[in-house]
Amino acid sequence: MNTRSQGLHHITAIAGDPQRNLAFYAGTLGLRFVKRTVNFDDPGTYHFYFGDRIGHPGTLLTFFPWADARPGRPGAGQATLTSYAIPAGSAGYWENRLGRLGVTGVVRRERFGETTLRLSDPDGLGLELVERTAPRGEAWPGSAVPVAQQITGLAGTTLTLRGTDATADLLVEALGFAEGGSDGGVRRMLSPDGSAVDLLRDPAGPSGTMGAGTVHHVAWRAADGADQLRLRGELLGRALGVTPVVDRQYFQSIYFREPGGSLFEIATDGPGFLTDELEAGLGAELRLPPQYEGNRAAIEAILPPLEVPAA
Ligand code: ZN
Repeated sequence: MNTRSQGLHHITAIAGDPQRNLAFYAGTLGLRFVKRTVNFDDPGTYHFYFGDRIGHPGTLLTFFPWADARPGRPGAGQATLTSYAIPAGSAGYWENRLGRLGVTGVVRRERFGETTLRLSDPDGLGLELVERTAPRGEAWPGSAVPVAQQITGLAGTTLTLRGTDATADLLVEALGFAEGGSDGGVRRMLSPDGSAVDLLRDPAGPSGTMGAGTVHHVAWRAADGADQLRLRGELLGRALGVTPVVDRQYFQSIYFREPGGSLFEIATDGPGFLTDELEAGLGAELRLPPQYEGNRAAIEAILPPLEVPAA
């Protein structure tokens, strides 16, 4: 029997200026800033989490922002488009809102029979808002965006690949995806949670390079630690190099590289973002994992101050 993931957990990208990143996602897009912490592998830099009311898996976009980040180049071997679900009929609201807030270059088009808006964040990260009824997040009343138009969660991602077959096989056989047809040369794979991974074949274009405005990794859900270990065994059985389980404070993670070159993670649903602060105060203060609490003063002295946008 195939193991299967429960769908998308989070997507993590690299950004430049932290305040600009925070203003765009918590202000312009109206997401909740659910956690202000540090990169556990580089604690002198921030790690931001944006999501729904309490940061449920499947709603999370996270960033490693630092002011001096060099721009990356989207290309083969990367997740090159991050898609969010918006309610049916809300594209017009979003066109107006983005225009009013100075976001230029927003393009409306139909993909796979769905209305989509293509845009870029301030670092050039490719984003898409897709009218799709696949709600998984919970509305956040504190958002500047009315509940009826709020982003409901991640709709999917696009992987740019030299060839699509090996990645498609992995998605189907190890993670429980199904073929979802093709449109304009893009091959869609459907996740059990209603999100989609689109495979864009680009045999001759440039390889992606990591930097601001590019995705660092895509994370899939495991229900719990046992489910994660079962998936880990499945990946090892496919001769993929997989890390041991790593404690990420808000979930447990394993990492591996899919055959097309993108870094994938499998993360547990728990313990979640209420493990170290109350719901009302999510994102308000810097949270550090236990191994860095002793260095809090030094870490806070390095990190630039932040202002969370008011609703
Ligand atoms: Zn991650």
